[in-house]
Amino acid sequence: MAAQKLIKKLEETIENIPDFPIPGIQFKDISPIFLNPGLYEEVIADLVNFSKGKVDAVCGIESRGYLFGIAIAVALEVPFILIRKAGKLPPPVISEKYDLEYGSAIIETREGQIKPGERILIHDDLLATGGTTEAAAKLVEKQGATVAQFSFLIGLKDLNGKEKLDKFNAEVYHILEY
Ligand code: AMP
Repeated sequence: MAAQKLIKKLEETIENIPDFPIPGIQFKDISPIFLNPGLYEEVIADLVNFSKGKVDAVCGIESRGYLFGIAIAVALEVPFILIRKAGKLPPPVISEKYDLEYGSAIIETREGQIKPGERILIHDDLLATGGTTEAAAKLVEKQGATVAQFSFLIGLKDLNGKEKLDKFNAEVYHILEY
């Protein structure tokens, strides 16, 4: 678990915006973290500490998963792989379709960047319903790799996202929970 001091600082920094982008959503704005380089470094150190020695590569989910994911990978001295929304990466790509509240979406990664047998950390800023993260994990498994860990800054406990990740038998970590 993260140090209480870090949790408190983040609680004071992350802004809650009610009814954005649609009524009923409590949007967690992490952008104030980037106004404070020292706090950013503490967040990275905490996430790196969770994954040290446990993964061969980091996959970040577009786009806020890149903000911390690349720094985590660099500190761990392992590759970073982009998971993007459909149509942004040039071919060849591997795709995974998943359901949204209304309709569906597709995420993709460049074929061959995740290697068979690798232990992967999937990172995103926030775990909500877990739909996007679950699709990212399926993308990892399609390439013969294993999801060893999931990490997030924030977990939203009422949305039960963690349950969607149970089947991957991976460690799940978030610094703070709402
Ligand atoms: P989900 O697939 O439902 O777990 O959604 C995860 C993605 O949606 C994350 O990449 C978040 O960046 C974004 N997201 C979902 N809910 C919120 C929220 N309440 N505040 C900020 N970002 C959110």
